[in-house]
Amino acid sequence: MYRKNCQNCNRPSYSSSEFGEWICPVCGKDLTTYPFFDAITFERLQVKSKFNHKKIENYEKKFLFFY
Ligand SMILES: [Zn+2]
Repeated sequence: MYRKNCQNCNRPSYSSSEFGEWICPVCGKDLTTYPFFDAITFERLQVKSKFNHKKIENYEKKFLFFY
């Protein structure tokens, strides 16, 4: 089970799959490129998919740049 935090509405959302799109069920924001967390431990996870990993890295760079 995975968890992501929406920075638009500050609500967590949960999914059992790391594949495909991830849309916030509360506000509809696209969370696909957001980092994955373990739903139980809240530990940050490195998703094995190369494609997702690349997107996560890009997101982190943007995040560091703006903050
Ligand atoms: Zn949201």
